[in-house]
Amino acid sequence: MATLGNPQKTIEIIQKYEFAFQKKFGQNFLIDTHVLEKIIAAAGVTEDDCVLEIGPGIGTMTQYLAEHARSVVAVEIDKNLIPILQETLKEYENITVINDDILKVDINKLTEEYNGGRPIKVVANLPYYITTPIIMGLFEGGVPIDNITVMVQKEVAERMQVGPGSKDYGALSLAVQYYADAYIVANVPPNCFIPRPGVGSAVIRLTRHKEPPVEVEDPKLMFKLIRASFNQRRKTLQNGLNNSPELPFAKDEIADAIKSLGVTPQIRGEALTLKQFADLSNYFTRNRG
Ligand code: SAM
Repeated sequence: MATLGNPQKTIEIIQKYEFAFQKKFGQNFLIDTHVLEKIIAAAGVTEDDCVLEIGPGIGTMTQYLAEHARSVVAVEIDKNLIPILQETLKEYENITVINDDILKVDINKLTEEYNGGRPIKVVANLPYYITTPIIMGLFEGGVPIDNITVMVQKEVAERMQVGPGSKDYGALSLAVQYYADAYIVANVPPNCFIPRPGVGSAVIRLTRHKEPPVEVEDPKLMFKLIRASFNQRRKTLQNGLNNSPELPFAKDEIADAIKSLGVTPQIRGEALTLKQFADLSNYFTRNRG
């Protein structure tokens, strides 16, 4: 039975192990059973699933996941949490804890090893300082994924859903639109965590599209174009693409590609829709032989 998830139990464990929270690891532990249940339900975890949990903390959500899933692989960076997890998860035989940095783990290999390469579910109360690289890495790395259900900073959840014209529009919004259908499951106030974060939080579910909403011949190139455009938001699209060390295109080629979109040459990258980035990318692919 899941025993964690209430404040008393969490405090008891923290005191017993004299655990010191590390701000640099974004440690805010969940202490609200309703929120935990909502996350599990939104992810649609069943006993057929292999779930990857990023940052199990003291194992609160891990216990819930283990009770619903076939297996859980939990990757935790903080070595001080490992002895705690050994205690809190000792009754579960379907959990593997890996002490590593999720940004250094080969998740494709993990999926192969623990789920025979079939799609996994990712469920996490994410460390907020690395939300974007984690989500971009999961999508762009081609990890077989069914859905990603994660707690993120409220503004980041909103950023994932905006289009051109918003100051929050960026590479993350475009990656989410290209790869997934985004749904905000719940807003979660700071008092649902120990210690309380200084920002509001939200649970968002990203369900991977069966077919992307736009046709792109080389998605890696499209995301290089997107990154180049948003790295220099204040510059025109032309200059952003010219200045990018990731892109091999000549000035004239870039000008022709932008012209092919039928937009003004002075346009900024942040004004382009996903479809326009797809067209731009396809233009380069088709005109480079
Ligand atoms: N899942 C727990 C909960 O809900 O109570 C803890 C969530 S806490 C917001 C984020 C967790 O991610 C912490 O346990 C932290 O140590 C861990 N973490 C931070 N950076 C990490 C990284 N690069 N790789 C793996 N885990 C990380």
